[in-house]
Amino acid sequence: MPDKLNDVVEELALANRILAHEGVLDAFGHVSVRHPRDPGRYLLPRSRSPALIEPDDILEFTLDSEPVRPPKVHLYAERVIHGCIYQARSDVMAVCHHHAPAIMPFVIAGKPVMPVFHLGAAIGEEAPFWDQHDEFGDTNLLVVKPEEGQSLARALGRHSVVLMNRHGATVVGNGLKGLVSRSIFMCQNAEYQLRAVTLGAWAPLHRGEIKLAGALSALPTVVTRTWEYWSARVPSSGAHASRPRSAPKVARSASRARGKAKRRR
Ligand code: MN
Repeated sequence: MPDKLNDVVEELALANRILAHEGVLDAFGHVSVRHPRDPGRYLLPRSRSPALIEPDDILEFTLDSEPVRPPKVHLYAERVIHGCIYQARSDVMAVCHHHAPAIMPFVIAGKPVMPVFHLGAAIGEEAPFWDQHDEFGDTNLLVVKPEEGQSLARALGRHSVVLMNRHGATVVGNGLKGLVSRSIFMCQNAEYQLRAVTLGAWAPLHRGEIKLAGALSALPTVVTRTWEYWSARVPSSGAHASRPRSAPKVARSASRARGKAKRRR
């Protein structure tokens, strides 16, 4: 993971657009990264759809999910998900919360997502469930109170994923690129699992296979290769192609390159 703040901010903006383009995030859902120099803080965009996130949208929060600088913009209501997990898990460097269509049937039916192919092993042996109603009764299902976030973090435990009944899922990683891989592989796995069930006989990977294949999917070569592939698939046009004049130099030249690419077509 890059340690320069600007590089991490750029990478987080790209992670948002990748996860949106690959169908993990839509108008909702969010992804964050722990601050590269201060483990007591994390970086998360302002409240905006992930496909549109630019480096300028990224804000800094304390682990209590309070903005470090007074915000002039709206914030994600569910940011305690991120803060409470960073507080509970010092090994976690990145968090993604989503309502991907691929996993919604499982969290509605209360059926486990289990690794059914080698890359699906990225989710680990078990993805526990958390039901907000068990502890908090009737709510609007958004995780907004610190005690709700802490309860979710307890359910996550040492796992890589927690499934949230009738809501979505939260995925963690020890780096941003690995988190992106895990989130996308998990959705692919859920799609394959559901389709395989309709064919009849199916079985998850063996425990030893999950361990070995999970380690494979976390290799830097795999993570770098998938990041490069998914980055190339992010649309080069759209709202983020026209940046304000105050944008950082790097991003402006990227935007000019996109403009040229557009004209060539
Ligand atoms: Mn949500």
